[in-house]
Amino acid sequence: MSRWLIPGLSLRTAILLGLLLGAVCGLGVNLLGGSALPFVPPLLAYVTRPLGQIFLGLLTMTVVPLVFASLAAGVARLGDLKKLGRIGLKTMGFFVVSMAAAVVIGLVLVNLIRPGVGLSDETRQKLAEVTRDQAVPGERKPAQFGIQTLVNIVPRNPIRAAAEMDMLGVIFFALLFGIGITALPARHGELLLNVLQAINEVMVYIIGLAMLLAPVAVFALIFSVTAELGLELLRMLLLYVVVVLLGLGIQFFGTLPLLTGMLARIPPYAFLWKARDIAITAFSTSSSSATLATSMRIAQTHLGIPPHIAGFVLPLGATMNMNGTALFEGVTVLFLAQVSGVELTLGQQGIVVLLSVLTAIGAAGVPGGSIPLLMMVLASVGVEPERIGLILGVDRLLDMCRTVLNVVGDVCAAAYVARTEGQTPAAPIPGPSADGKDEQGATPELPTESAAR
Ligand code: ASP
Repeated sequence: MSRWLIPGLSLRTAILLGLLLGAVCGLGVNLLGGSALPFVPPLLAYVTRPLGQIFLGLLTMTVVPLVFASLAAGVARLGDLKKLGRIGLKTMGFFVVSMAAAVVIGLVLVNLIRPGVGLSDETRQKLAEVTRDQAVPGERKPAQFGIQTLVNIVPRNPIRAAAEMDMLGVIFFALLFGIGITALPARHGELLLNVLQAINEVMVYIIGLAMLLAPVAVFALIFSVTAELGLELLRMLLLYVVVVLLGLGIQFFGTLPLLTGMLARIPPYAFLWKARDIAITAFSTSSSSATLATSMRIAQTHLGIPPHIAGFVLPLGATMNMNGTALFEGVTVLFLAQVSGVELTLGQQGIVVLLSVLTAIGAAGVPGGSIPLLMMVLASVGVEPERIGLILGVDRLLDMCRTVLNVVGDVCAAAYVARTEGQTPAAPIPGPSADGKDEQGATPELPTESAAR
C-alpha cells in the first residue's frame, strides 16, 4: 500500500482522515454560523476551494490522453490476436454483457431510491455556487439526446473533440485508431502500441501524483461543502454510498453467480469462495492491475483455468472488464444529476449506460482510475463535472469494493471461456488449506498499489 507524506501513514488512511476531519470541521463551522463567520469566506475563497480546484484540474488533465491511449491500445491488442478471434469475441461478449447488466442494476436502484432528490432549493443553489467556484474552466459541455447525438459520435475534427472533451467523439476516434493499428505492418504497429502504452503509463503516473494531494484536497472539498451546506448533504451522501454498495452486492451475489452458473456451468458460489484471495487482494489494493498477479496464479492453481486462457482473458479483463466500475459510474452520474436538479430522460439514461460501459473499458486499473472518465460522462449528459468533488471523499471505500467486482468478473469471464473451449474450470480444484496457504504452501501475496503504477 503506498505511503503518504507522513511516515507510517498509508495513502488510504490519510484520505479517510482527510474526509473525516473535513466533515467534522465543516460541520462544526456550519453549526457555529457558516459563511456568516468572518473568517469563513476568505478561508473558502483563498484556501479550501483553490486546493480542491487544483486537485480536480490535475485529474482532469489526464482524461483525454488516458481515454485515447488506453482504448486505442486495447483495441489494437485485441486485433493483434486475430487468430484468437473466437476467444476474443467470447471474452468481449462476456465483458460487455456483465458490465451492461451492472449499470442497469445501478440505474434501477438509483431511480427507485433516488438518493440525490429532496435537496431544498436553498441548499441546491448554494451547492451550485460552491461547485461553480471549484470549476475547472472550459470543460462543461451539456448534451441533449437526439439524432444529433448519434451524428456527433463521428467527430469531424478529433483534436477539436479532444479540446472540447467530447467524449464519444474521442472514443470513436480511439476505436478506429486502434483498428487501424492492426492493419499496419508489424514494425509500425508495435511502435505505435508502445507509444500508446507509454502515454498510458505517464497518465497513470500523473494520477498517482495527484493522489498525493488527495488527503488534503478531500479535506478541502468536504470542508468547503459542509461548512456551507451542513448535515442535509451528508445524509444524502450516506444514502448514495448505500445505493452503490447495494448495487455491487446484487451484482456480486446475483448476476455474476448467475452468469457463471449458466455460462460456465460450475457451482458459482463454491467458485467465488475459491476466488476469495483474489477478492481480498483487490479490496486491499483498489487496483485491478495490482491484483493481476494474484488472479493469474489463483485462476490456474485453484480454479482449474488453463494458462493460455487465463493469460489471455485476465490481462485483458484487468484493463477492459470493470463491472463494478461501470455500476459505480452509472449510479454516480444519476445521483449527481439528481443533486443538481437535472432530470435525465430515458434516452439520456441509455446514453449513460453506453458511456459507463465504454469508459469502464477505458479506465485504468489503478486506484481512482475511473474518476477522470466519470467526469467526462457527467459533462456529456449536462451535469457539471466539478460536482464530482461531492463524492470524492467517500470514493475510496467505494473504489475498494468496486475493484473486487472488477477482478472477480474477470475470473468469471475466464471460467466461461475455458468451459466453451472444452476445459472444465473448477473441476478438481485443490482448495486452500485451513492456514490460508495454497497447495504449494505459498501464502497469497498482496501486491502493493505502487506495483500498479
Ligand atoms: N480502482 C478500479 C480498478 O482498479 C478502477 C476504478 O474504478 O477507479 O479496477
